[in-house]
Amino acid sequence: MKQSGKCPKCGSHEVIAGAKAIDRAHGPTQKDFTVATFRTPEAFIFKGEQKSPVSAWVCGSCGFVELYAQFPDRLKIPAA
Ligand SMILES: [Zn+2]
Repeated sequence: MKQSGKCPKCGSHEVIAGAKAIDRAHGPTQKDFTVATFRTPEAFIFKGEQKSPVSAWVCGSCGFVELYAQFPDRLKIPAA
């Protein structure tokens, strides 16, 4: 949908690009919705968290939502 500008579910071209995905956690605080990977998930404290905010592409016709990490390169785990 991001590349094609077309909804894969209903075929509409009424696509809303780059909507902000909001994570409300537990309360009124708004945080960017993020995805994360961990370089060393077995570590007790320093897990090496790597994060990217998430943007949403929304179909204005059927409401289908597609999520994209804004910085996918940040999430890659380097080979050991
Ligand atoms: Zn649609």
